[in-house]
Amino acid sequence: MCLPTDEVPGEIARFRHAVRIAQQQIEEVRKRMRAALGEEQSYILEPHLLMLQDRSLGRQIEQFINDNRANAEWAVREVASRFISAYTQIADSYLRERSNDVEDVARRLISILSGTKVRDLNHLASDAIIVAEDLLPSVAAELDPKRILGFITTAGGSTSHTAIIARSLGIPAVVGVRELSGSIRSGETIIIDGSTGVVILRPSPETLLFYNEQRLREQEQKLHFLDERELPAVTSDGEVVALRANIELLEEIDAIHRSNAAGVGLYRSEYLYAQSAFGLPTEDDQYKVYRMLAEMSGEDGAVIRTFDLGGDKLHLSGFKAEPNPALGLRAIRLSMQIEEVFRTQLRAILRAAEHGRLKIVLPLITNLDELRTAKRIIAEVEREMRAKGIKHAEDIEIGVMVEVPSAVLQAEAIAREADFLSLGTNDLTQYMLAVDRTNESVSHLFDPLHPAVLRAIKFAADAARRARIAITVCGEMASNPVQVVVLLGLGLRDLSMTPNAIPAIKRVIRAIDLATAEKIAARALALTTPAEVNHYVREQVGAHWAHFLHTGLSHESMADLNFQR
Ligand code: PEP
Ligand code: MG
Repeated sequence: MCLPTDEVPGEIARFRHAVRIAQQQIEEVRKRMRAALGEEQSYILEPHLLMLQDRSLGRQIEQFINDNRANAEWAVREVASRFISAYTQIADSYLRERSNDVEDVARRLISILSGTKVRDLNHLASDAIIVAEDLLPSVAAELDPKRILGFITTAGGSTSHTAIIARSLGIPAVVGVRELSGSIRSGETIIIDGSTGVVILRPSPETLLFYNEQRLREQEQKLHFLDERELPAVTSDGEVVALRANIELLEEIDAIHRSNAAGVGLYRSEYLYAQSAFGLPTEDDQYKVYRMLAEMSGEDGAVIRTFDLGGDKLHLSGFKAEPNPALGLRAIRLSMQIEEVFRTQLRAILRAAEHGRLKIVLPLITNLDELRTAKRIIAEVEREMRAKGIKHAEDIEIGVMVEVPSAVLQAEAIAREADFLSLGTNDLTQYMLAVDRTNESVSHLFDPLHPAVLRAIKFAADAARRARIAITVCGEMASNPVQVVVLLGLGLRDLSMTPNAIPAIKRVIRAIDLATAEKIAARALALTTPAEVNHYVREQVGAHWAHFLHTGLSHESMADLNFQR
């Protein structure tokens, strides 16, 4: 996409400004390195600075902006890629190394330009555990599970997007550990027990041995899961439950098959933006991804959620920070404001839906007008495509994410006009209980087993049943063995979760019987405090299926699997 000619000088000015900021940032890091490691080590950053001062590099980027009417991010990426490919051809190993520096500088510039904090943590030595105050979901999405063994953050809650991403990458993580980073020094040995949320600093040799054995046991368990891949997800009394995949990252698409998922119950399309260095993906880029999802998800199909940007730290650059982002310009509200972006996404989905069974789900619907407006826009986009002779699917199914109290209380009316419902229990818990899902200070109050949340879930499930439309649970509850028992008891039969959790949840489904699950859910609904419900449900699950509580994948379950405070 080219810029209008009159915006080119502004783009060059934006690039020059980013260079100045990058210089300041690197000087700052150098100062800190000098203080901590001495003069010699601080020279590591010398090439970065030289590169930023190099007028010929700057001139090439500005030229690229001029010639192509390109935005600065695109120009930096293009010119950097040319340099990198030239460097990698060079025999001299020192010069070849310089390609890493170019990549580093380019990433820094792009992150400044796009307003995101892209940091390549994969440059850390392998077998690293990251200890940080916070990690942005977009940074977590870039971690390489082969190099990064795990991370611990002081901020965050178990259903924050950073936690969700770690789970889908299979990276053990413990989030929301307060006052931690000060007590850990670089190079020390740490154990992260993702299943219980325990972090052990400087472990004794015996503890290390114990956890190493534990790790081997978990690897063995994974092999058993492989044997069980083909088994159906059916309760012991014959009720079939659909287990679908939640997908965020393109790397995970293979996992649909590995986990034998019944298609994709939720594709969080906003990660296309998080994973792109160039801002919002084009229609063609989106089309390729959606088509791949359509083809990979077979008969069961894939549900594409339209961009859920804003809120939980996936900010669209160019929009100002909000005092209350969870209640602000997020999800469908943002899509309606940038309608051209919404239309572009819809075109890409409708084109891709020609190649398989795609559905659309709309995030954060709070009233019927939003659903009606979205449906009108989808119909208009279809009409335009028909008029232009562009191949696309007709009559695509349109669903609603039920994830705020107003949508629950209007579930009957929504169910009459939507083709299906998706129950987003992460946001539903956040908004029902007024607990920020990313704020560790209130994470003890975040509880999907709160009696009010259970009632809301039942209300939505009953509305869907009466309207004879499907309802899928796609929040983290669906991957929590203990909570799954309650969900089944409340009448839900369709669960979507990170593919890594499917084998363990299938075991849970195959072990339980519906009659018992219904009894547990009915009694839980009659209790009045979160503590009573938690105590009762855990006690019952322990009495009937104690192994759910003790497998590597029991989490105090997934809310607790991998991520506990
Ligand atoms: C949810 O809110 O439960 C959900 C599935 O969506 P997200 O976690 O992406 O907000
Ligand atoms: Mg949500």
